[in-house]
Amino acid sequence: MAAESPFSNPHVQVALLGGGQLGKMVLAEARRMDISVRVLDPSADAPCRLGAERFEVGSFQDYDTVVSFAQGASAVGIEIESVNADALETLEQQGIPCFPPSRVLRVIQDKVRQKEFYAAQGLPTSDFTRYESLSALRSAVTSGQQTLPFVWKLGQGGYDGFGVSIIRSMDDLNALTEGICIAESLVPIATEIGVVVARNSAGEVTCFPPVEMEFHPVANQVEFVVCPASLPAESLAQAEALAVQVAEAFDTLGLLAVELFYTTDGHWLVNEVAPRPHNSGHLTIEGCSTSQFEQMLRAMCELPFGDTSLRQPAVMANIVGAEGFSGPVRYEGLGQALQTPGTAFHIYGKSQTRPFRKMGHLTAVGATVDEARARAAAARDALHVKA
Ligand code: ADP
Repeated sequence: MAAESPFSNPHVQVALLGGGQLGKMVLAEARRMDISVRVLDPSADAPCRLGAERFEVGSFQDYDTVVSFAQGASAVGIEIESVNADALETLEQQGIPCFPPSRVLRVIQDKVRQKEFYAAQGLPTSDFTRYESLSALRSAVTSGQQTLPFVWKLGQGGYDGFGVSIIRSMDDLNALTEGICIAESLVPIATEIGVVVARNSAGEVTCFPPVEMEFHPVANQVEFVVCPASLPAESLAQAEALAVQVAEAFDTLGLLAVELFYTTDGHWLVNEVAPRPHNSGHLTIEGCSTSQFEQMLRAMCELPFGDTSLRQPAVMANIVGAEGFSGPVRYEGLGQALQTPGTAFHIYGKSQTRPFRKMGHLTAVGATVDEARARAAAARDALHVKA
C-alpha cells in the first residue's frame, strides 16, 4: 500500500467510465475523501454532471474517446459494463491500472463466456448448454435434445432483463433475440443472495455482509434488499467464502458483486457477477462502516480497505417511475416520505421519468430487520414518481 496519502494529491486522479447513479454515489464518497474524479458519459444530463472534478460528454464505448479521456489518470474505474474493453487494455499497457482489468471485463461482458469460466474453474453454477445461434437452439428443442423448461441467456447485448428469459414452450422461443446463447437448467431457488467483494492490487480481499433479495409476491421484481439475510450464519459464511473464491478465480481488481442462488436443497450456485458497484450494495452506505463506493475508491487509490461490518439492520428499496407516467419528473409525497424515521433518500437526478425507471432508492435502518423493512415500505409507499 502507498504510504503517501491521496488526499488532495494531484497524482491521484481517478477516471470513471459512466456517469449514472452508481457514479454519482462514487463521487459523493470521493468528495468526502477529497479524491479527484473525472467522469465520461454520453449524456450531458447524466447524474454525474454535478460533483465531478471534470465531466466529459462522450461515448465510453468508443476506443479513441476512452483512451484520450483517461490520459494522465492514475486509475480507471467503471460503473457500467458496456465500456470499450480494447481501450482498457491499451490503458493497462500504458501503465494505468483498470478496475476491473480488461481481461476480467471481457469475460463478464459475455454471459456465455462467464458461464464457461465458472465451469472451467470448477465453481458451482447451474448446468447449461451453449448454442451458436437461435436456430441451433430451436432445432435442439424440436429434436428433444434440449428439454423444456430452461432459462435462455443471450451471450452479448442483453441489458436490464432483456437477454434472459424462462422458456417453457416452443412458442416462447419466438420472442428471443438472435445470437450465441446458453440454455440453463431452471434452478429451484430458495432465495437469492448478493455478496459484494473488493480486491486490491496487493491481493487483499474483503467482503460485505451477504444481502437477501426479497421479491414482490405479485410483480416478481426485487422489492427489498435486506441485510442481514435470513439464512443461518453457517450458510452465510459459505456464501461469503464462495463469493471470495469467485473474485480470486477472476484475479480481479476493485469491486465484484456476486449474485448467488441458494437452492431448496441447500446448495450455493453462482448466477452472475458485476465488476462494479451494484444495486445490492447500496445499503452499505447507511448500514456498514465503509460503503461499497468508498471501498472501490480505496482499491483504486491504493489505500487499505475499510471495515465492512454491518452497523445495524438495513433495508433498501428502489424508487422507480410510476406506471403510466413519462416525461419531466415530479416527486409526489416526498415531504411525507422524508419524515420516515431512520430512512435516507438517494435521488439520482434524472430529469425524465418512465414506468419502472430507477429514479432513486431509499435505505431504512432499524433495531431489527422487521423495523427497517416497515420503515422502507412506509417511505416507498408515500412517494410517487410521476411526470
Ligand atoms: P440479469 O442480468 O437480467 O439480471 P440474471 O442472470 O441475474 O439476469 O437473471 C435474472 C433473474 O432470473 C435472476 O435474478 C433469477 O431470479 C432468474 N434466473 C436466472 N437464471 C436462473 C436459473 N438458472 N434458474 C432459475 N431462475 C433463474
